[in-house]
Amino acid sequence: MDKEPERRVWGRYFVTGDVRLERKGYPMTGNKSKEKIGLVSLGCAKNLVDSEVMLGQLEKAGFAITSREKEADILIVNTCAFILPAVQESLQNIFELARLKQNGRCRRLLVAGCLAQRYGRRLWRELPEVDGFLGTGAVSGVAELVKRVLAGERVYAVGRPDCRYPDGLPRLLATPPYTAYVKIAEGCSNRCSFCTIPAIRGRYRSRTIASIVEEVNSLVQKGVKEIILVAQDTARYGMDLPGAGRLPGLIRRLDAVRGLRWLRLLYCSPDYFPEELITVLAASPKCCRYLDIPIQHASNEILRKMNRRKTSEEIRDLLGRLREAVPGLALRTTFLVGFPGEKETHFAELLNFLQEMSFDHAGVFKFYPEEGTRAAGLPGQVPEEVKEERYHRVMTLQQEISFLQNRKKVGKKLTVLVEGKAGKLFYGRTQTQAPEVDGKVYFPADRFLSPGEFVPVLIREARAYDLIGELADEPA
Ligand code: SF4
Repeated sequence: MDKEPERRVWGRYFVTGDVRLERKGYPMTGNKSKEKIGLVSLGCAKNLVDSEVMLGQLEKAGFAITSREKEADILIVNTCAFILPAVQESLQNIFELARLKQNGRCRRLLVAGCLAQRYGRRLWRELPEVDGFLGTGAVSGVAELVKRVLAGERVYAVGRPDCRYPDGLPRLLATPPYTAYVKIAEGCSNRCSFCTIPAIRGRYRSRTIASIVEEVNSLVQKGVKEIILVAQDTARYGMDLPGAGRLPGLIRRLDAVRGLRWLRLLYCSPDYFPEELITVLAASPKCCRYLDIPIQHASNEILRKMNRRKTSEEIRDLLGRLREAVPGLALRTTFLVGFPGEKETHFAELLNFLQEMSFDHAGVFKFYPEEGTRAAGLPGQVPEEVKEERYHRVMTLQQEISFLQNRKKVGKKLTVLVEGKAGKLFYGRTQTQAPEVDGKVYFPADRFLSPGEFVPVLIREARAYDLIGELADEPA
């Protein structure tokens, strides 16, 4: 309880094809007589959606999906590669699973996702133990590629990153049954000077509103209550589909989805934030009072070098108007410390901004001079130890701020989405807490509560990240 949020922003899922089955102890799905496939999904929620779509197709093609690496005939690692630590973690996972190929049942190993897209050719030469490389554009062809690999071919399916996989492909959820990520666009055209994602994932490509509404309807019919909209920049949605409407229009359509309880927005960069979104968020019956808005820095000089489009004054104004229009709005953001040329004065601007804006949640990255980015070649590269020290100073200040923000909730009755039980306490999240990255609410209950239930909880105590409460009788 109350542990500092994970420093890593990416998770490692051993996707079971269907978490529900795993919880009930069924080790696998699909055709049990056929080859068994295991998939490790690394990285962000957008990559997790790709993993779920790959598994949906593999199961439809008749493969069995197993939750046990050692039982798998075929192992797939869906990798992340946007910064050095993510590259290292992906390689570590590949080597780990390659050992299972040498000593275990595994006969074929495939590498998919951002690492394959970024370093495909090099890895093809340097990792002969890998039987196939699937770029970020190969998600829709995974079943055929696995069949070719099983037939003994070594496949290289890394093409242009900016293709689009068709809507409506089968998907096996890896998240708990009451919550699901929906990727509303692929790629990014913002071209922040430190970021490799546009090169790995291609230019920004929005899905149509109709395809997203259809997917959300089908997920809600399967029992999903919380839909989390994700993209590299969710706020930019629809800018590449002239006349088709942007994020406000999409939200209005999703507000009409019967059975949907919570709609959450992650990764809304301030740069292309649509004005109308403020009033739509305020009026929406489904949108959580929660917004993840990565800001990266607060010094205008550094923001310019990052190729970010809004000044800190404009960001301050936007956040002020959001908070005024949406009472109780929780804000999450992300900062990047140690950007080339960042002096103590620039860093002080960031700390002052953090103090002034009092974000409910904030994550911090250290800058990495990523190969192929403009920022990697900028003068004034900051020493590692200075980056580390600045990382800890931001996290320490944010821990104090998170506690103060949490303390404002003591005495309030909040609706909690139950997620599970830890010891004697149930735990879950309020509207103001996203899965994986934010704190939780812990509370005793005199009756059994099922994951996915919404219950009123009276908050009794605040911690730096978590809240402690008790089950309330009356609804929040
Ligand atoms: S908004 Fe900037 S940091 Fe985010 S994915 Fe796009 S280019 Fe990268």
